[in-house]
Amino acid sequence: MAPRSWRTEALVISLSPFGEGHRSARILTPENGLLYAAVFGGSKSRLRGLVSPWQTGTAWLYTDPVKKTVKITDFDVHFWRQGIRENLVRSWCASLCTELITRSHGNTDWVLVNAFLDGIAVSDEDECRRGLLRFLWRVLLGAGLCPDCACCTRCGAGTNKENAVLYYSPYEDALVCAHCVRQEESRFPLSREARHYLDSIVQKRPSEVRALPLGTDAYSELRSFLFFLLSRMVDGPLKTLETGEGIL
Ligand SMILES: [Zn+2]
Repeated sequence: MAPRSWRTEALVISLSPFGEGHRSARILTPENGLLYAAVFGGSKSRLRGLVSPWQTGTAWLYTDPVKKTVKITDFDVHFWRQGIRENLVRSWCASLCTELITRSHGNTDWVLVNAFLDGIAVSDEDECRRGLLRFLWRVLLGAGLCPDCACCTRCGAGTNKENAVLYYSPYEDALVCAHCVRQEESRFPLSREARHYLDSIVQKRPSEVRALPLGTDAYSELRSFLFFLLSRMVDGPLKTLETGEGIL
């Protein structure tokens, strides 16, 4: 196999140092998933400023078939998303997104993750937090990991009764009504407002859902519920959630 120069769209996920001042970039690409690519050059190198986490652009790559290595020879940034670095909540949301991409081995929706990063780069803190919940629900929908919210799994009662609180049972991975839930079992309460918000993510246009208010209690319920489903999806706790307790 001959050496190959090629180009692709790429989102920079993370960087780690290697060798004499060089770096290894983990990048997400639409066609080839996650890749590792070397970025040569010291701190004054032009390329080093371009290949930076959460930036998306066109990457020119060179694959060496003998050494089985890939290096980035140039990177044209289309989306800088500088706003993410200016705020702790934004950067924590972005870190959770990139950890999720890594933990799912790049098995993530290219359009969805880029739209999410575009949004949080220009949103205030509360909007970032709500945007994160919507993003996570869409990720879970894409993975086919959302429980059926239409009826109680034990008695079959519909779940749209006014003001009814329902419970998500991790054991059954389904919703249970207040009548059927057992006091001793572990569960996540989901109020009518919280469930309505989840339904709206699927049924309404993104601009309409963004404008929807979300009360503090419903936000907390969704946060616990979605963070739990997310950790289950990636088979263990997420580092960003553990270290970012209180920020997200
Ligand atoms: Zn029931």
